[in-house]
Amino acid sequence: MKYLAQKYAVVKPSAIKTAPLDPSRCCVAITFDDAFANLLDNALPVLKALHLPAAICTPAGNLGQMPRWHIADSCDDKNVSIINAQQLSQLDKDGFEIFSHSMSHPELAILDDAVLAYELTCSKQLLRDILAHEVIAISYPHGSFDDRVITAAKKAGYQLGFTIEPTMFDTSTNDLQIPRTFVSPADSLLKFKLKTTGAYQVLKYKKLFRPKANLEKAVLCPQPIFTDPK
Ligand SMILES: [Zn+2]
Repeated sequence: MKYLAQKYAVVKPSAIKTAPLDPSRCCVAITFDDAFANLLDNALPVLKALHLPAAICTPAGNLGQMPRWHIADSCDDKNVSIINAQQLSQLDKDGFEIFSHSMSHPELAILDDAVLAYELTCSKQLLRDILAHEVIAISYPHGSFDDRVITAAKKAGYQLGFTIEPTMFDTSTNDLQIPRTFVSPADSLLKFKLKTTGAYQVLKYKKLFRPKANLEKAVLCPQPIFTDPK
């Protein structure tokens, strides 16, 4: 986080496409999927100390409970609960952004239309009731989305949707298909630095070999002034 604070302009995730660009520094945004309670002790004190904005992507139907979706045994978060509604409200008051991460953390692309609408709409409503303001963004659990999910998310009122495709983006990127790059506490500083430069875009070509359950924890949104070399 110190490296990001020194090297980059860290912007609110909701402003990743609209924040004024600084020609001297690239910008990034930080999001955390799943809203595990260990965020409160680990990441958030560091973010606060460095005055870094971030978004917490929250499985709204799982607040205050153990995760009810499959998590690999090797994942450190397997036995960690999700933050509760009071903690979520406090995070919002502290200035962190709260995004939806659906109700029950399913793979959205395989749901039928009715269940998909429930996951998108009810999570938005539940978070709005807790926070007393609208929630404008969602991150797709397991990175599962397709054109139908994007259409349904837009219909549900989301302005922004975050994937876990590790690509760069520019101002032409679909607002409901904003890529992110997965980073892990296990990453070395060198690996982390490479990820922030977009070096891991190649992973999109290795999608079939990535273990799904380990794809989410903390993610960066590479900034819009990086150029996709394609
Ligand atoms: Zn997740």
